[in-house]
Amino acid sequence: MPFCIKCGKELGVEDLFCSACGTPVGETLQAIKVETLDIPYPEGDSARLEIVVRSAGRINVSGGASGRFVEGTVEYDDSELAPVVRVQGDRVRIVQE
Ligand SMILES: [Zn+2]
Repeated sequence: MPFCIKCGKELGVEDLFCSACGTPVGETLQAIKVETLDIPYPEGDSARLEIVVRSAGRINVSGGASGRFVEGTVEYDDSELAPVVRVQGDRVRIVQE
């Protein structure tokens, strides 16, 4: 179900306005996508993590358990900005391109 960006109320699929605050749905509603990160340790012994963000969103990461390098989630609202995980040698980059 979509939610009002302004007040957070749950919206009906065909609603044009938020029933709680009146915000037009078309202008404000964007589906928030959540992507799970589960990145294994890269090669090498000096692993580094780099995060590049180009739009509003949220990245929650932590050191992974049991041999994983990074685990967490990425939330973003523009599918063209889906984060990409790149591993180059001992460097892990989470990039919105
Ligand atoms: Zn609202």
